[in-house]
Amino acid sequence: PGVQKLSPYVPGKPVEELAREFGLRAEDIVKLASNENPLGPSPQALDAIRGACAELTRYPDGNGFLLKQALAERLGVNTSMITLGNGSNDILELITRAFVSPQHEVVFSEHAFAVYPIVTQAVGARPVVVPARDWGHDLDAMAAAITPATRLVFIANPNNPTGTWIERPALERFLAKVPENVIVVLDEAYTEYVETGDVPNGLDYLTQYPNLLVSRTFSKAYGLAALRVGYGICQPAIADAMNRVRQPFNVNSLAQAAALATLQDEAYLAESRRINREGMAQLEAGFTSLGLTWIFSRGNFIAVDLGREAAPVFQGLLRQGVIVRPVANYGMPNHLRVSIGLPEENQRFLEVVGRVMADAA
Ligand code: PMP
Repeated sequence: PGVQKLSPYVPGKPVEELAREFGLRAEDIVKLASNENPLGPSPQALDAIRGACAELTRYPDGNGFLLKQALAERLGVNTSMITLGNGSNDILELITRAFVSPQHEVVFSEHAFAVYPIVTQAVGARPVVVPARDWGHDLDAMAAAITPATRLVFIANPNNPTGTWIERPALERFLAKVPENVIVVLDEAYTEYVETGDVPNGLDYLTQYPNLLVSRTFSKAYGLAALRVGYGICQPAIADAMNRVRQPFNVNSLAQAAALATLQDEAYLAESRRINREGMAQLEAGFTSLGLTWIFSRGNFIAVDLGREAAPVFQGLLRQGVIVRPVANYGMPNHLRVSIGLPEENQRFLEVVGRVMADAA
């Protein structure tokens, strides 16, 4: 029954599909739709993938020994606290499958990441959606929504698609209120883009709160979305349960090799951050010029308020070869979510959105 009620996840339109649909050249299309890293992969990742190709006939390391060890060293945790996933979506699903049954409730916020309802309903549990506050998570209301049936709470920090973030005092107040038998999933997919001191690092709370799982990904700031590598960090007891329901070889060997190499490429991460910081400022300045408001974001994307229904503007952008993300399915019909691109991509988006809105006015 839960599955029957589900709306499937709708990914950004593929470039090839759009090119075919509107008779455009693929190389003229700008895609700012899936919060991808516009920099292209780390050259060290490409080398590592070439090396790993020699072993394509072998199964990958099902326990991800080298990658887990590198992550454990980097994060200052034990390898027994790390679970690797086929993207961090896999981590979100593993924790749900391991702990949530049809009689349970799962709490998350309005305007939060679309995979939370999917994994919840896929196991037949009841989603409890808590109204947002200023587009972000209302953690006091989320704590109040916890009942004896609650098994899991999903929190995204920063959140997609709003870019909103939770500051340290609010998170600490929340964690202190959550009963021990409720697992808190702190989804930190965009954490590497956060450059201010006010956003907590979930790892700081793992010792105090054994019911906490922090999930992270190589898809965003590390630029490996195609390869699908994410990871969860939690106390070994929870990791052990996730490991029991995990598919034996859920992260392929090219992905493991590339993730390991990128983790060591510090210059790549710094450059990803720089492009994001500058691109965010470029888009904000552009929105100001266009008279548009937006939700301040700490991610690699920004939700802009068009002040009217966004769907026709989204379609107009598509016809001009610019792919962004409508977020009406997140309860935000007047917003478009735009991923931060390279300077010329951001510029192209700003020009085209200005033109499409003027034409439609
Ligand atoms: N969490 C959030 C908040 C996200 O926005 C995304 C990507 N859209 C993910 C998790 C999953 O990313 P991946 O599976 O590529 O790690």
